[in-house]
Amino acid sequence: MHIFPDASAVVRATAPDRPVILNRPHAARRAARFFLEKFPGRTLYAVKANPSADLLEVLWDAGVTHYDVASIAEVRLVRATLPEAVLCFMHPVKTPSAIREAYHQHGCKVFSLDTQDELDKIVEATGGPDDLTLCVRLRVSSEYSELSLAAKFGVELADAPALLQAARQAADSLGVCFHVGSQAMTPHAYVQALEKVRAAIVDASVLVDVVDVGGGFPSIYPGMEPPPLEDFFAIIDRTYESLPISYSAELWCEPGRALCAEYNSLIVRVEKRRGRELYINDGAYGALFDAAHVGWRFPVKLLRDEADGAVEPFSFYGPTCDDLDHMEGPFGLPADTGAGDYIEVGMLGAYGAAMRTGFNGFGECEVHEAADEPMASQYRGDRRDPRVSDNVVRLR
Ligand SMILES: *Cc1c(COP(=O)(O)O)cnc(C)c1O
Repeated sequence: MHIFPDASAVVRATAPDRPVILNRPHAARRAARFFLEKFPGRTLYAVKANPSADLLEVLWDAGVTHYDVASIAEVRLVRATLPEAVLCFMHPVKTPSAIREAYHQHGCKVFSLDTQDELDKIVEATGGPDDLTLCVRLRVSSEYSELSLAAKFGVELADAPALLQAARQAADSLGVCFHVGSQAMTPHAYVQALEKVRAAIVDASVLVDVVDVGGGFPSIYPGMEPPPLEDFFAIIDRTYESLPISYSAELWCEPGRALCAEYNSLIVRVEKRRGRELYINDGAYGALFDAAHVGWRFPVKLLRDEADGAVEPFSFYGPTCDDLDHMEGPFGLPADTGAGDYIEVGMLGAYGAAMRTGFNGFGECEVHEAADEPMASQYRGDRRDPRVSDNVVRLR
């Protein structure tokens, strides 16, 4: 893959007709090193956030050995890409055939569950061996997160003790896991969830070997500047250390977004302008799913030599023939942005590149690598100030 200095260089060299995904391996490597060095336990990568094989290899080379997978396709993908990776099947509703294949063919021994039925299914499909790690998923609040994961999965606290006791019987290693929701904006989210873990363990009176605080670690987006990740790690460590668990217990986390948000940006072309609306060549059915469906704002840059200074708010339409293919933003761009211009949309490595569909014939894109910094970073020791002057990149 050709390595360009930055997005402007891609536009100058190729004037791309299709959207371009830009990979930044150095940014993903830095994020992985940060978690491996600073999180006070084990880091699993949640593959669904971005399952591209090139990213999996970057994370593996950086030292990430454990992967949170949620479907048999993700199990096969990680096994095929990283033969020695440790697989953890953390979706609490699996098919018997997926469990069977994961355990018997791919060596996956870690499973999550939130009901007695799922526990029975896992025991039957694996044959009840003595090497299972079973993680009971607790239902916790998503009130501190931008995207809720509170409704769908997790056993209620009142029902947790019985399930923990039953899982203890079948497990070599017993875990408790949860997910506070994606893009948690305060470390307190984890404290509140860990207090539920404490209550469940005390009520159940079982020995717990793994406490898995899940994903939810935030990245930086316009209007969403979370506290430093070090604050999250410190509070999780302190609360974890006070839990009534065995001395040899392990602390795990499953970041998706935080490990890959900075890995990708996207170059789009403006095909038409109508007032403050820009019709671009990617959208709701491409890498901009979250921008359309949950109104997520991503940072943008106009890739052009000269621009009329003042930055104004724009919204985007994607390329399909569907009114839903609309991204409200607002996205701040120079007032004279129009047809033929290229725009770089940043921070799309998590739940961006992974969401692309072929709807309406618009799924194709190009992939290149860029050597410059992502538009924002949790990991470079500064915080980008989204000033007006940063919104135009000179093409030289
Ligand atoms: C989606 C998911 C994650 C990753 O969440 P992020 O918010 O991207 O960090 C981790 N664990 C489980 C079980 C998930 O479903």
